[in-house]
Amino acid sequence: MTSPRLEIDLSKIRHNARVLVNRLGKRGISVSGVTKAFLGLPDIAGELLAAGVSGLADSRIENIRTMRRAAVKAQMTLIRSPMIGQAALVVRTANTSLNTELDVISELSKAARDIGRVHGVLLMVELGDLREGIMPADLEDAVRRTLDFPNIALMGIGTNLACRCGVVPDTRNMGELSQLANAIEASFGPVLPIVSGGNSSNLDWALGTADTGRINNLRLGESILLGCEPLHRQPIEGLHTDAITLVAEVIESKIKPSQPTGAVAEAAFGTAIVSTDRGPVSQAILALGQMDTDPAGLTPPPGIGILGSSSDHLVLDTGRNRLPIGTEVGFQLNYSALIRSMASPFVTRLIQHGASPHAQPAPQPAEYAI
Ligand SMILES: *Cc1c(COP(=O)(O)O)cnc(C)c1O
Repeated sequence: MTSPRLEIDLSKIRHNARVLVNRLGKRGISVSGVTKAFLGLPDIAGELLAAGVSGLADSRIENIRTMRRAAVKAQMTLIRSPMIGQAALVVRTANTSLNTELDVISELSKAARDIGRVHGVLLMVELGDLREGIMPADLEDAVRRTLDFPNIALMGIGTNLACRCGVVPDTRNMGELSQLANAIEASFGPVLPIVSGGNSSNLDWALGTADTGRINNLRLGESILLGCEPLHRQPIEGLHTDAITLVAEVIESKIKPSQPTGAVAEAAFGTAIVSTDRGPVSQAILALGQMDTDPAGLTPPPGIGILGSSSDHLVLDTGRNRLPIGTEVGFQLNYSALIRSMASPFVTRLIQHGASPHAQPAPQPAEYAI
């Protein structure tokens, strides 16, 4: 079997999605299944739909197109502001997009009119994390102007926290989003069917005891795939944290000193961290590197430590065991390691449907070209 590869257990992903859909459903909140971390792979998208997500959402229109071409049947939302140059592709491919700029909405309106379609727009509001969003004081004007564009349907408002600055979703900022929704509807009538409160980092708030107010949607990716909440990276009760494993193969195995020999300057990726002298160690090299994943985001099996990495090599301390050449080692991944591995053309995917796994080739860049 080829490596490096991601082994993806679809039944665990479906379980995670179903548990979150059910728990949030009791709080009046629907789940948009976020597909960007797995590049819209139709097999995984299908599991999210089978688990009851209300729609699919991706930051890359290319991934949404991948799912459309595979005939995945769902409402699809582009969750990064469209680029002007992609307006025509966006209105052809996605039902709705998240927006913050009237210039972009204007282009979407023209592109939608050209093909006789209505494109949904959800306006994002800035509530403290300082990534995308309209300043709250400017929201009313943005709503008024969005409602005036032909072939554009205002779908609601939303926000995104804990991404750029780590701002925690809480009663205050979620309350502000609810109040903004109420204020907008007081002026314009019931124009905001969706109030999308955020991403996986909203789960503590959403599943706690606080009043969820007007918030009736979350966009979830990481929590479904990794079974963790992103604020403290703690496992979520009842979810699988091992649905996805990265497997790589040993290409060298030797006893080597624990410290380098010679004058030391910068390594390939900055200053190497070298431990104190522990005498000789059992060192193995895996055919896996920065081109394939984020080595800092890997958790090795018990008894194995990561000593360092470069573009193409991951160096392990294998403790008492010398790993034979050809041995495969499996790692759990954090979000950063996961998205790099999924996007690497060198990493294949082994999709496991219970008993019958089937291998999937790594993505070829041309598949995603526009
Ligand atoms: C990536 C993304 C999400 C999903 O975030 P997770 O932490 O993976 O749940 C939600 N909303 C937006 C705008 C995103 O870019």
